Amino acid sequence: MSRRTRTADVLVVGAGPAGLAAAARLAAAGAGRVEILEREQQPGGIPRHCHHGGFGLRDLRRPMNGPQYVRHLVDAAVRAGADLRTGVTVTGWAGSRTVDTTSPAGLERITARAVVLATGARERPRSARLVPGTRPAGVLTTGELQQAVHLHGQRVGSRAVVVGAEPVAFSAVGTLRAGGVEVVAMVTDQARPPQTLLRGIPLLTHATVTGLTGRGRLTGVGLRHRDGRTTTVGCDTVVFTGDWIPDHELARRGGITLDPGTRGPAVDAAFRTDESGVFAVGNLLHGGERADTAAEEGRHAAGPVLRHLAGEQWPTTTLPVQVEWPLCWAAPNIIDPDGPAPRHGRFTLRTSRTLAGPRLVVTQDDQVLHRQRLLRPAVPGGRALQLRADWISGVDVRGGPVLIAAY
Ligand SMILES: Cc1cc2nc3c(=O)[nH]c(=O)nc-3n(C[C@H](O)[C@H](O)[C@H](O)COP(=O)(O)OP(=O)(O)OC[C@H]3O[C@@H](n4cnc5c(N)ncnc54)[C@H](O)[C@@H]3O)c2cc1C
Repeated sequence: MSRRTRTADVLVVGAGPAGLAAAARLAAAGAGRVEILEREQQPGGIPRHCHHGGFGLRDLRRPMNGPQYVRHLVDAAVRAGADLRTGVTVTGWAGSRTVDTTSPAGLERITARAVVLATGARERPRSARLVPGTRPAGVLTTGELQQAVHLHGQRVGSRAVVVGAEPVAFSAVGTLRAGGVEVVAMVTDQARPPQTLLRGIPLLTHATVTGLTGRGRLTGVGLRHRDGRTTTVGCDTVVFTGDWIPDHELARRGGITLDPGTRGPAVDAAFRTDESGVFAVGNLLHGGERADTAAEEGRHAAGPVLRHLAGEQWPTTTLPVQVEWPLCWAAPNIIDPDGPAPRHGRFTLRTSRTLAGPRLVVTQDDQVLHRQRLLRPAVPGGRALQLRADWISGVDVRGGPVLIAAY
């Protein structure tokens, strides 16, 4: 089948909070033809199946549930003049700013002056967590659970174990209860969860999943406890929550450099990847941050996209920002010494280990550029760590990578 070829000024790939917010701001600012391509039939990304509250408070100053938040973002993008096309999957690249798409209407090849990748993140499925055992039905991620319950009205089971204790695990508990499922345990390998416990649900800390049992349907989750004991919790459903992996396949196919920590595209503070004219925003950059963070990044990226359209030079001399264990990643993770400062003048960091009152140290070629003490403890899956960015002016552009460590 032949491809229809055409052009646009800006292509936004993904109609989640990040892509919708970016498109709204760009269209309103007169970026020309701004097109949003979304593979699902409905726009909105993850929030469209999050029927609980907790959206919109920080960016829109209004409490909303996921679908209400989506309606607001879609209205804003369409009202501003962006062209929202659903059921269109971007399958690859035919040039640095030319993408191939497929949809029921056929194949297309679209060349844009700027491409904004906003393809989001997903929870690591059971197979990618290397959980041994049988392959029964009843094994889900939170996203799959929410789609089954809230989008398709399906009954998922009767007794469930939730693996994880991050905020998204509490959404899973809410969805299971809404679907008439008893939650028999929450399981985490951490010493303590970052969020208040739910009454009536046993929380098993310092416990790891050793395997799943059951033929046809799940019958139990095997656990190893801190003291070496192994037990099995009987259940017909298990929900693996959190443990995000950016949906980076399209970026990877385009040869865009990925950050080894986030596994999303490496970007500077202007959301620029190492491919001229290609930007990336939202959870594609850093896994499971909040929807308002993703949307704010989308809005923030509009400025750099407009400057690119106006002919601003793409950076050529940049420095990578690397982190040392127990830090998992930093965002942004490229420094352009001539570019803007990071959003809110801060880098965002995540830790894989609890740190009480962490001390952050930034070095380049063994020279200390910055030290900072944080008052709050850093907890995996809890609030992100915020590192001030005012040391950037001291970076040597001809030096080695910038290294961030936490003690
Ligand atoms: C269970 C759960 C509960 C949550 N609860 C909250 C909450 O209470 N409050 C809160 O603030 N946040 C919450 N979040 C987080 C929030 O959903 C995310 O921060 C937000 O959705 C990230 O937005 P995004 O636009 O980066 O990505 P996404 O929402 O993931 O959107 C990405 C979009 O890109 C599309 N796409 C991907 N690849 C392609 C392609 N090749 N072609 C075309 N389209 C493509 C996808 O279909 C998707 O629609 C929750 C998340 C989960 C999973």
